Amino acid sequence: MRRVHNFSAGPAALPDEVLEIIRADIPDWNGTGMSVMEISHRSKQFIALAERSEANLRQLLGISSDYSVLWIQGGATLQMAMVPLNLMSATDIADYVVTGSWGKKAAEEAGRQCVVNVAADSSDQNFTYIPDESTWRCNDKATYLHITSNETIGGVEFNYVPDTPVPIVADMSSNILSRPIDVSDYGVIYAGAQKNIGPAGITLVIVRNDLLEPARANLPHLMMWKSYAESESMTNTPPTFAWYVADLVFQHLLRQGGLSVMAEINERKASKLYAAIDRSDFYSNPVREDCRSWMNVPFVLANAELDGTFLSEAAAAELTNLKGHRSVGGMRASIYNAVPEASVDALIAFMVEFERKYG
Ligand SMILES: *Cc1c(COP(=O)(O)O)cnc(C)c1O
Repeated sequence: MRRVHNFSAGPAALPDEVLEIIRADIPDWNGTGMSVMEISHRSKQFIALAERSEANLRQLLGISSDYSVLWIQGGATLQMAMVPLNLMSATDIADYVVTGSWGKKAAEEAGRQCVVNVAADSSDQNFTYIPDESTWRCNDKATYLHITSNETIGGVEFNYVPDTPVPIVADMSSNILSRPIDVSDYGVIYAGAQKNIGPAGITLVIVRNDLLEPARANLPHLMMWKSYAESESMTNTPPTFAWYVADLVFQHLLRQGGLSVMAEINERKASKLYAAIDRSDFYSNPVREDCRSWMNVPFVLANAELDGTFLSEAAAAELTNLKGHRSVGGMRASIYNAVPEASVDALIAFMVEFERKYG
């Protein structure tokens, strides 16, 4: 099996082991003589998968019975609207901390459904830091506080949980399952699958049970968290293949030793890449050190005219998907759970050699 070093921001790399299982499973899943894509979501076999995936996820993240685990379509982007629709009436206020492009989008989307108070915003320095909590201007009537725990584009990650009396709603699309968290610190956690969970098309939402009751009447069923909670996420046909892959990824993570082991590996991968960037004047990362992401590492070359050469020589060395987002420029290496440490080592070796040639 030919596999390149894949630094894609999303949809992103999946573990080789999981891909091998999928390949073997495809024609005859679980002795059914059918692939998982060809059977009912209400079959005994699929319901067993749904139950196992939830039990394994609860074990990985330590999710208590005070929380419901929901699988929804529409991506993290739909949750940006479902959060205010389920938690508030149109005249209620929510606090948003905007530390990057995704937080900005979440605040804009919520602004169509309720009153948004941007409590803090780091756009003044191109989203390269998290404003100190003491400077946030939260509204004392706010129903919840929304944060983006990891900004995928800017590479800015919260390394603490904000101190607030209201429920915290966190977009964890790009750092869920990268390290242990205490779910009880949050009211709602949502994450599109295509970074650290599985393929695109399914979205994980973890909701504290007391927040499930919709705050407004007449929401469509598919926009109500409660209907997913009451139907085991089978309000209508769920994306069964994506759910199946997520189940395999959770089993894989448990075999690795769970999230404390993943955290050790992720911290090591990120530290060595940042060290390589910081060691030279040829490369730089613009993010304030205390909020650098373990998952998405943007870096720029001192001479941006070399960007194209860097990317083409990297691709020739099978280091792929390194082009930075246009709002930041340069390069971005996304080093999610499924990106092996050996890929990070290969990138660092390439960077050292590239600097020797062109520096
Ligand atoms: C990728 C991403 C999104 C968008 O997810 P979709 O599934 O495309 O809606 C939102 N927030 C964050 C932090 C992301 O990384």
